[in-house]
Amino acid sequence: MDETIINQLKSIVPDGVLHSTEDLAVYSYDGTFAEYRPDVVVLPRTTEQVSRVVALAACERIPIVTRGMASGLAAASVPFGGGIALTTTRLNRILEIDEVNRTTWVEAGVVTADLQTEVEKLGLFYPPDPSSIRHSTIGGNIACNAGGPRCLKYGVTGDYVMGLTVVLGDGRILKSGGKLIKDVVGYDLNALFTGSEGTLGVITEALLRLVAKPKYTRTARAEFPSLADASRTVNAILSAGIVPATLELMDETAIACIEEAMHLGLPLDVEAMLLIETDGSDEDAVVREIEAIAKICRETGVRQVKVAQDEAERASLWKARRSVSPSLARKAPNKLGEDITVPRSAIPEAVRRIKDISARYGLPIVVFGHAGDGNLHPNILFDKRDPEQWAKIEPMVGEIFDTALALEGTLSGEHGVGTLKRPYMQRAMGDVSLEMQKRIKQVLDPLDILNPGKVFPA
Ligand SMILES: Cc1cc2nc3c(=O)[nH]c(=O)nc-3n(C[C@H](O)[C@H](O)[C@H](O)COP(=O)(O)OP(=O)(O)OC[C@H]3O[C@@H](n4cnc5c(N)ncnc54)[C@H](O)[C@@H]3O)c2cc1C
Repeated sequence: MDETIINQLKSIVPDGVLHSTEDLAVYSYDGTFAEYRPDVVVLPRTTEQVSRVVALAACERIPIVTRGMASGLAAASVPFGGGIALTTTRLNRILEIDEVNRTTWVEAGVVTADLQTEVEKLGLFYPPDPSSIRHSTIGGNIACNAGGPRCLKYGVTGDYVMGLTVVLGDGRILKSGGKLIKDVVGYDLNALFTGSEGTLGVITEALLRLVAKPKYTRTARAEFPSLADASRTVNAILSAGIVPATLELMDETAIACIEEAMHLGLPLDVEAMLLIETDGSDEDAVVREIEAIAKICRETGVRQVKVAQDEAERASLWKARRSVSPSLARKAPNKLGEDITVPRSAIPEAVRRIKDISARYGLPIVVFGHAGDGNLHPNILFDKRDPEQWAKIEPMVGEIFDTALALEGTLSGEHGVGTLKRPYMQRAMGDVSLEMQKRIKQVLDPLDILNPGKVFPA
């Protein structure tokens, strides 16, 4: 990048401009196998600095790729066109926790787990809990509308966004929302920026809704000899009118990989496991719910339901769930994790069809995910160095997406479109919806400098 631009950036963010080859390499990845180096990395500390950086980029027509902790699974923060990797990790202050209104103002680079820890000290609760909770940011969570295990009962990130500070593509600062429970003045701009994957603006601050921390939880692991039985149990539980906080599915390959990596004593002779948690402020009700769930599991083919007896056992179950993704590396050097969503009633059929794709192509597809939300993470395991395996990936992904769409589902429940799902957007959204979305992008970012080349088909 031109030395003059580097110097201008340094004058805006004196201690936060990186451009050595080593630094650029570090900022060229996200959670996928995609890779491309930015021309420069900028780490601002204030909204005002972000605004000046974006204004400069607009003037010079330089792409800006906003980046939180780059845990994304859609290659959305990989800067394929070079330009500025605008990284929010130094925008990391919790600005306010308002106990009366139950809200918190945070900067976009706050790590989600850190926010949860702070609000829980006050008996409050920020429910969205992506499994990447310790290595993703609030800004990234909003930009992807992140979900997580607890979203079955509590909703996704977008359900907690009450206000935003956003730097637009020309450097202007927009403020939306506020501490209002009801507000119908104008369009809902919070919703517009939520899930926009860095293509409409740079989120620098967020006002988030908090709730009371549930006092009691019960966590159980249900072991199923048959994956099909585990899948249909999800619907049986929800149809009984019980809404657990969590209803997570892991198949046998996921279980085996976690056990090999973590040695948690997981069963290796079952096809699937459900991780189920109930919570609330009435202990008896929480216990009754987990007992009712155990009873349903017994009617649908469970081999054993083990309820965690103490916090250590509960933590171990959660450790297992949060380790699925990293543990898969033991099975194959590469994985492609998809994130389809189907109506809940279609989960058993979706799982069946995914396993059929795996068998036909001869590559493992691990299935786990937030089954209670209808959100499955089929992960294809492969070795990218093997041309024969690599050639199978695109058709396999295509068939996974075809499966989701045929079952009235969609391409992504929480990871977003990024780069990887762009070719399938037209099929998923249809012409009219896609055209309207492109027009929104043109209005907000007419120079196409904000995360260009993402979300929309080329
Ligand atoms: C092991 C693992 C488990 C995961 N589990 C889950 C899960 O359970 N649920 C889930 O939803 N996701 C999950 N993810 C995916 C990922 O963690 C989420 O998408 C997360 O929200 C990304 O946050 P980030 O800070 O890492 O953002 P990044 O990866 O840095 O960026 C993601 C996108 O957001 C944009 N962006 C980031 N910050 C901003 C900002 N301040 N303003 C505007 N745009 C911005 C980027 O441009 C990019 O388009 C998981 C990932 C991994 C690796």
